Amino acid sequence: MNVAVVRETYPGERRVALVPALAPQLTKAGWRVLVEAGSGAAAGFSDADYQASGAEIVPDRNAAFQQADVVLQVRCLGANLQAGRGDLDLLRPEQVVIGMCDPLGQPEAIRELAERKAIVFALELMPRITRAQSMDVLSSMATISGYKAVLQAADHLPKMFPMLMTAAGTLVAAKVLVIGAGVAGLQAIASARRLGAVVQAYDVRPVVKEQIESLGAKFVELDLDTGDSEDKGGYAKQLSDEQIQNQQQQLADIVAQCDVCITTAAIPGKPAPLLVTADGVRRMRPGSVIVDLAAERGGNCELTKPDEVVVDNGVSILGPTNLASEVPQHASQMYAKNLVTFLVNLTKDGQLDIDLNDEVIRDTLVAKDGQVQNEGLREMLGLEPLVLPSTSPPIDHLAQKTGAS
Ligand code: NAD
Repeated sequence: MNVAVVRETYPGERRVALVPALAPQLTKAGWRVLVEAGSGAAAGFSDADYQASGAEIVPDRNAAFQQADVVLQVRCLGANLQAGRGDLDLLRPEQVVIGMCDPLGQPEAIRELAERKAIVFALELMPRITRAQSMDVLSSMATISGYKAVLQAADHLPKMFPMLMTAAGTLVAAKVLVIGAGVAGLQAIASARRLGAVVQAYDVRPVVKEQIESLGAKFVELDLDTGDSEDKGGYAKQLSDEQIQNQQQQLADIVAQCDVCITTAAIPGKPAPLLVTADGVRRMRPGSVIVDLAAERGGNCELTKPDEVVVDNGVSILGPTNLASEVPQHASQMYAKNLVTFLVNLTKDGQLDIDLNDEVIRDTLVAKDGQVQNEGLREMLGLEPLVLPSTSPPIDHLAQKTGAS
């Protein structure tokens, strides 16, 4: 079996789907590993590094697609809407593509991939079960983003993070507020604490109180009934408009007091909740910084512009949409580990074994046999259910992922 890694084509993307250190895991299984020349360069991995670990370098993308039974990518079409389209003509029927394709945000792109009769796995749909943790790319990338968000905030803040008592006087520690304490938020809390900031954090799911406190941060409690805010998959449910408004008002007082606010609140498959209004920003002190990790989904802050730094009343609002790519080496290492674990799980005796009784395989499979495979996605696209219900993921499973339950 030939497994190919191709160069990422999304503008500014620096990650790569496979790192040299993991190539032997594939070659030992008897597979050829083909790497498009230059694929790892932006993450610090040379073609020679891949060759030394048993991979073969192929000169261009066409050659990689032509020879590959399985293509590994970070961003496939969907998560790479313009440049990713170029790969459509390279795909062969039955060729397997594994990567991130933003299926909930761009279901039409999945339809286009399905029309090429490729077999596509969208890693964003990994079920949140213990066995799948080692394949969970969203968690891996959120870990990197949470860390990097703190560094960006520290870089823009006209203050230092730690408290210092020096001969030149005392510097007061920066006050950091993290809104949304999922994977990215918890990593942001831990990273801000390591830099010496005083940290508090808020999440709509009260179950995270203990996790926030175990990292040395204070849990912000709002006067808001959010007891049933978590779905069966561990994700937050969407709040009512009234609850969101109430939340905005109560958060505004806390946001006004902080030097840095890192927002990470998200509901899978929905626009991000608006938590910091323009008025809330204008109550912050000049020099304060907001890093809005929800920028890609519309932002948690009203003034966020994706991939821009907006300065309003002296407050800097950053809206990075691809932070994991800014720590490309470790991000690629984590992503590749997730992907290789997934690929090994997808094979038996060295051959592909698409076993739809395995929920990891069934939930992530989005295109096969010329059809969009996932029932929830088919519903989003207005397609009839497939005739083989026993091989399709149950609708209520995707409903959890879209926050609809
Ligand atoms: P996410 O990116 O979907 O959301 C980020 C955070 O925003 C969540 O904590 C959510 O509760 C919060 N949020 C949503 N709406 C909000 C609002 N209006 N106000 C404040 N906060 C709001 O979530 P995530 O980081 O991907 O993880 C969600 C949960 O899943 C976590 O509990 C995590 O530990 C769990 N998880 C489990 C597994 C597994 O078991 N395999 C893997 C990864 C994550």
